[in-house]
Amino acid sequence: MSLPEYRLFIGGEWVDAVSGATFETVDPATGAPWARVPEAAEADVDAAVRAARAALADPAWADLAPAGRGRLLHRLADILRRDAEELAVLESTDNGKLLRETRAQCLAIADHTDYFAGAADKIEGSVIPSGKPNFLVYTQHVPIGVVGMLLPWNSPLFLTMFKLAPALAAGCTVVIKPSEATPVTALELGRRIAEAGFPAGVANVVTGSGPAPGQALTAHTCVDKISFTGSTRTGIAVAKSALDHLAPTDLELGGKSANIVFADADLEAAANGVVAGIFAATGQTCIAGSRLVVHEDVRKPLLERLVARARTIKLGDPKDPATEMGPIATEAQHAKIAAMVGEAVDGGARVLVGAGQGVTLPEQGRFAAPTILVDVAPEATIAQEEVFGPVLVVQPFGDEDEAVALANGTAYGLAAGLWTSDVRRAHRVAARVRAGTVWVNSYRVLSYAVPFGGFGLSGIGRENGFEAIRSFTETKSIWVELTGATRDPFVLG
Ligand code: NAP
Repeated sequence: MSLPEYRLFIGGEWVDAVSGATFETVDPATGAPWARVPEAAEADVDAAVRAARAALADPAWADLAPAGRGRLLHRLADILRRDAEELAVLESTDNGKLLRETRAQCLAIADHTDYFAGAADKIEGSVIPSGKPNFLVYTQHVPIGVVGMLLPWNSPLFLTMFKLAPALAAGCTVVIKPSEATPVTALELGRRIAEAGFPAGVANVVTGSGPAPGQALTAHTCVDKISFTGSTRTGIAVAKSALDHLAPTDLELGGKSANIVFADADLEAAANGVVAGIFAATGQTCIAGSRLVVHEDVRKPLLERLVARARTIKLGDPKDPATEMGPIATEAQHAKIAAMVGEAVDGGARVLVGAGQGVTLPEQGRFAAPTILVDVAPEATIAQEEVFGPVLVVQPFGDEDEAVALANGTAYGLAAGLWTSDVRRAHRVAARVRAGTVWVNSYRVLSYAVPFGGFGLSGIGRENGFEAIRSFTETKSIWVELTGATRDPFVLG
């Protein structure tokens, strides 16, 4: 059976890679190839960047009023809403995420796009009281230029829109490079960007496998900014490459987030939140609550609930509405999860629930068991490093200071959950936890309007909210002399 074939989206045209090479993308639920996409190399990335550069100067985009950019984004939002079901099915096929979650994400990106459409004509500068009475000084926030966007495989469309909507609202042009594991929906997005009526070259999509196309994009001297979501290791390499031509880089990276459960917590709600944190999306989420920091007094009853729930999680076809955990998206990730759990067990960790211990894996496809590990030292790799899979490490504590020390005891700082019925403790601990997002009595909730990003090795910069638009602009200060007076040319004013 022939596979559906895609082409690159460059300068408003659908083109093959210069080399003519292609590669197959695989459905992780079946292990079978299901689509064929172009294998872009340096020449293709160069063409995409040049198209974006040309579009930046094209009056059809450069002279479009901010409200006009907003209208195009609203049109794109309507198209995304119309096609949400189709896009959700494609996304689930490419990365194995539950259809019920990709469906929610594909509807959410339409709302996300509407939010930034509405913001496009509200990017205001300010008038500055400069202390120089004969000058009027004001600022403008102008588009930063061509933005290179690099995406991971776990929530490709959702995370692309975190970048794309504010960048287009700000007036930038973009080159999108999705992960080799999930190239299809970015190309489908390109089709919808064209349908919305964005001028040619404003958004371009290049697909390829291996690091080469991403490296070509980050190293390209005509790229003015890099916006990256992915692993910490790659993020650091990307930032170093962009620094060679002084392109600022926003990094949305990995995490080792803690769910902190105090003795006064509603244990039913906390158990539900811990399950959402680590087993939703099969743990393949940057905000995975991969550490349970739990008060000694409630450790036993909470773990009983978690083990019982983990044993009943339904693994299987991500498109089956009854499925709760789908497959692992890539072969490499599947192997990494098994290796990290094996190493932890060799180091003395005890498995409360896991593969062969209360969980049977489906026979076909790449699956990982919901796993809970106890007797893990805080300095163990499994307690310090991201697994990016459904593996929970349990870390008991005795008092609040110990809880905060454990929660802050890794180099990451993306998110945290805390569970307590004491409102004073909630605010006190939220202030002390070093993380970009803290949920109190909840976990895994995001909004287009709320800044999102990490401390430490979890990244640099914030997405969502108005801060996201600012990150795609440069601030320009304009000084207007008001009196006509001449000044001493040899003295700084
Ligand atoms: P990754 O391996 O770091 O890849 C991210 C992107 O960079 C992919 O498009 C990848 O292309 C590309 N790339 C790889 N090497 C490159 C290089 N040397 N130069 C330029 N680009 C390069 O991440 P992943 O495995 O796809 O995603 C999982 C990671 O993303 C996890 O660590 C997770 O925590 C993180 N994440 C963070 C957030 C957040 O918002 N903080 C959200 C989601 C995921 P190829 O895939 O084609 O190699």
